[in-house]
Amino acid sequence: MNAPSSPALSDVDVADLESIVGAGRVRTSFPDRLAYQNDCWPRGIILSRGRRLHHHLASAIVQPDDEEQIVEIVKWAKKSGVPIVPFGAGSGVCGGAVADGQSIVVDLKGLDDLIELDADNATVRAGPGIIGMDLERYLNHAGWTMGHFPSSLYCSSLGGYLASRSAGQCSSRYGKIEDMVLSMRVVAGTGEVFDTAADLGSPGEAGPSRDLNPIFVGNEGTLGLITEGLMRIEPRPTRRRYRGFQFSRLDLALDAIREVMQLGIRPTVVRLYDEVDSIIASSEKKGEAASKPQAPSLARKLARRARKWLPRSVDKPLEETVDHATRTLLGRAIGRPLVLNTVADILPGHCMLVVGFEGSTDLVDDDADYAFEIFRRYGIDLGTGPGQHWLENRYKVSYKQSPMFDTGAFVDTMEVSTTWSGLVDLYDNVRRALRPHVFVMAHFSHVYAEGSSIYFTFAGFAPDLDSTLEKYEATWKAGLNAVANSGASVAHHHGVGQSKAPWTHRDHLGGRALFDRLKDRYDPERILNPGKVYP
Ligand SMILES: Cc1cc2nc3c(=O)[nH]c(=O)nc-3n(C[C@H](O)[C@H](O)[C@H](O)COP(=O)(O)OP(=O)(O)OC[C@H]3O[C@@H](n4cnc5c(N)ncnc54)[C@H](O)[C@@H]3O)c2cc1C
Repeated sequence: MNAPSSPALSDVDVADLESIVGAGRVRTSFPDRLAYQNDCWPRGIILSRGRRLHHHLASAIVQPDDEEQIVEIVKWAKKSGVPIVPFGAGSGVCGGAVADGQSIVVDLKGLDDLIELDADNATVRAGPGIIGMDLERYLNHAGWTMGHFPSSLYCSSLGGYLASRSAGQCSSRYGKIEDMVLSMRVVAGTGEVFDTAADLGSPGEAGPSRDLNPIFVGNEGTLGLITEGLMRIEPRPTRRRYRGFQFSRLDLALDAIREVMQLGIRPTVVRLYDEVDSIIASSEKKGEAASKPQAPSLARKLARRARKWLPRSVDKPLEETVDHATRTLLGRAIGRPLVLNTVADILPGHCMLVVGFEGSTDLVDDDADYAFEIFRRYGIDLGTGPGQHWLENRYKVSYKQSPMFDTGAFVDTMEVSTTWSGLVDLYDNVRRALRPHVFVMAHFSHVYAEGSSIYFTFAGFAPDLDSTLEKYEATWKAGLNAVANSGASVAHHHGVGQSKAPWTHRDHLGGRALFDRLKDRYDPERILNPGKVYP
């Protein structure tokens, strides 16, 4: 293994930080720093495959377990000029938690307390390090839900959701995380500690009407470290109505969804797959080749069949060989995106919609029946099967993408949003821009009365590391330029991190000056998460 070229924190600095967080909670070993070299940003995965991230390792990993320690770490950083990168669970996909060679990573998973469930006021107060699924299980046990179900629920934290404006699969009913948060406690880059909505936080800290939530939700740790979240909760639903529908054309399905949303009906889940994504979603449903990408399970099936004919001692290497060969073939096919995209176009297709309603009263049935009738006017009712299948597999799909990296290929996603009137154009423009570079598919989820997000999934391949990186960067550039030129937003719920930072100025005209002023106020020494949100 190559030695890292970015140096570890000096012994003197380590001793200073250990006096704050305790011995053994400042980690500078190479393996420790390597473990935090990337979040789930696919560019970082490509780089680490070529061992190129070693040059950008954080100088130390610091693991506080309470707010006071964080205040002291921030004061130390101000004094020493060493930047801080807040780290939740590291499931971000935009490089938001990735350090450069100078920074320390502050891992916030130690602050994982469930502070208070307040049933009278339907709120829960918790530390930022709590993993989403742990929080949800606790709430479910007490008869509540937060309603936040990102596909990464098992591997992401409350602080990460708040810092990057996350959206769960049930956002049409419960909203995004910014709709669920009532107040946060924050340690700003100045070392000050405050509640973002003072009237809901500790009494006497600020004027009653102060609401800094819009500033501190989604700033990705560039203005402050979130040390607590006060979240709105709802009774755990007791009724569920899920169905699938099929449409001959995407625009018909979008018209149907818009009609439902603008009537004020709020489905819990709305997921409309385009023609290519529908092929994958329905083959998953039949239990055939698994979801994107299909190679590993297909390979495993072939190998399992061959194993029957072979002595026990050779079956394992064979399985690996077949698995590897199938993945490599798939990788090569993805290396011809124009051919693959064209083949996908000419296959006879349709679009599949999964739609679900949840709640605890008869209103669920009323809303569901009304909406299902509208969908039947535009398409074909596929019954309860697709919805049931989706519910059972809702956290599995994303995790099937990582084996693609073994083939030398890459997979990534781009979640963008716009109003209804621009939606089909946005879909067409982005696909047109991506198709020369990668194999592309999309689904529409997170729908609103005013518009929707589009979630593009794409896979690409190039023969070596440098050309893979070149292709990866050309893909993002083409895609996000198409989004910005369509007047749409480049980030719906994954945050900005590093990957989208060069496009932030296209999303927020005049926003840079405002951001700089917020930095002057809350992080004048520029020690918090440099290079994120704005380059
Ligand atoms: C398989 C998979 C599926 C996914 N599905 C979804 C999905 O359905 N919906 C969705 O919204 N996202 C999804 N994501 C993306 C990711 O899970 C979210 O962005 C999530 O909000 C990140 O949380 P985290 O705890 O992992 O944060 P991290 O990745 O650790 O950090 C994210 C950003 O927040 C900052 N940060 C973290 N904690 C704090 C804190 N306490 N204070 C200040 N700043 C902080 C970091 O510096 C970084 O900029 C998915 C990712 C994966 C890998």
